[in-house]
Amino acid sequence: MYLIMSLNLLQRTLYVTRSKSISNLSCRGVHLLQNKAFINGKWVGAHTGETFDVTNPANEAVVGNVPDMYVKDACKAIDAAHSAFYNERWHNSTAKERSALLKKWFQLMETNRQEIAQIMTAESGKPMVESLGEVTYGNSFVEWFAEEARRIYGEIVPPPQANRQIMLTRHPVGVAGLITPWNFPHAMITRKAAAAIAAGCTVVIKPAEDTPLTALALTKLAEDAGFPEGVFNIITSSRKNAATIGELLCKSEKVAAISFTGSTEVGKLLYQQCAGGIKRIGLELGGNAPFIVFNSADIDKAVTGAMNSKFRNCGQTCVSANRFLIQDGIHDEFIAKLLEKVKALKIGDGSRDGVQIGPLINQAQIKKVSQFVDDAIEKGGKIIHGGQRLSKHGQLYYEPTIVTCLRDDMRLYNEEVFGPVISVIRFKTEEEALMIANGTQRGLAGYFYSNDLNQVFRVSKLLEAGMIGVNEGLISATEAAFGGIKESGIGREGSKHGIDDYVYIKYLCYGNLQ
Ligand code: NAP
Repeated sequence: MYLIMSLNLLQRTLYVTRSKSISNLSCRGVHLLQNKAFINGKWVGAHTGETFDVTNPANEAVVGNVPDMYVKDACKAIDAAHSAFYNERWHNSTAKERSALLKKWFQLMETNRQEIAQIMTAESGKPMVESLGEVTYGNSFVEWFAEEARRIYGEIVPPPQANRQIMLTRHPVGVAGLITPWNFPHAMITRKAAAAIAAGCTVVIKPAEDTPLTALALTKLAEDAGFPEGVFNIITSSRKNAATIGELLCKSEKVAAISFTGSTEVGKLLYQQCAGGIKRIGLELGGNAPFIVFNSADIDKAVTGAMNSKFRNCGQTCVSANRFLIQDGIHDEFIAKLLEKVKALKIGDGSRDGVQIGPLINQAQIKKVSQFVDDAIEKGGKIIHGGQRLSKHGQLYYEPTIVTCLRDDMRLYNEEVFGPVISVIRFKTEEEALMIANGTQRGLAGYFYSNDLNQVFRVSKLLEAGMIGVNEGLISATEAAFGGIKESGIGREGSKHGIDDYVYIKYLCYGNLQ
């Protein structure tokens, strides 16, 4: 017994020492750094004892290690969530009780803003200012759904016969399996988990291999907030186990709903896997957002919007503008002003003051960005700025880049680059711009700048995307419905619609009433 306690202490001390590689992490932050997963109210390792390292993309230092879990571990989490859903304490919980728990979680996240952001920057490479911004955004979903929990109303519908009463009531679906990406390690979890819990579901979360520490920090705060055992479960795994765990979540009869944010390729696979059980699924997938600047636009505002849309999180944002369509009359002036701003970007380790562009997340991502730019150069693209890796900063830095003369046979045109690359197409007419913008199977976000009122209404209607920024480059907001059309996904997150994925409607027909 004494030996086990000593070993645990040693393990924890080593972990805390290692976590010093997260600069200036306070004692409170160390309390949030977890090296275990969380199942049924307990911090647990993988059944094999295996772990994997989490590294800082800015300098490749190891910042933590977490359990490398398998299907067997995921089954335990599903069982826990399933029992908790049917446990009286949760099943009979009132909206007010769930709201109070979510509010407590929100308050704890607010108190620990700085610490969560430090952990996020250390594992994702995101500049601190952006990590703090994501904490604000991510926390806001918990606050929002704490409020929405109390407004999941039913309906009383006028019946066709006088002796009937029709009532529609809304109920939690059960266990929700939530699979999230690395680019928003906090907000992609809270946007799903807070909605699911508000509705009365229980959750099993599988965060991305690259960013489990932020997810575990949120879990620690959920534990401190006092969610009953089994309501909030999280399993960590390395990339090699993601597919089998994902398949289990999609095929298990104990899981009622899947919510996934990530690539369209994986989203399609999960959609197929859910088909066998006619499982409800929400998909937030990749985009290929057009950013159109018309001749009538305010060019300075359009340049600011372009910078915000493109360079947030080093371009690794699903709603990032991917193709910049600039009208003939203002093309050269727009590029000149944009170039000035791009040259002024401060690149480096995100934990340092003033840094705006950090590293890309991993080797696969920087390889992809380099290949896309090289492919454009080969096919006649013109590099106005950048176009290469910045090894002097580290292995994963890519120079903010502007490529003009984009053509439809280039990968930059057809696929989401997910990096700090602005690809420009010059166009002449509105019809041509719309044809190019809509000529993709993706339809997540779109942006356009115009001061012509008729054009604003026309283009808003014709642009094929789930979310549109009109004279605005940053559009995400808790209050708004986030989601795509075409192959960019199904369902909406945030807003009052964010609850819909986690509730079903029951129709009650009261007949033969006297
Ligand atoms: P990804 O490879 O699809 O991974 C997303 C999540 O799915 C990760 O947790 C990943 O685990 C897991 N995963 C990978 N393969 C799986 C499989 N076969 N079965 C089940 N789960 C699997 O996407 P990513 O590269 O991390 O993220 C970038 C993509 O996400 C971009 O396309 C971006 O546009 C999209 N995105 C969309 C939104 C939106 O709201 N629409 C928001 C953010 C990002 P591992 O990390 O362990 O591989």
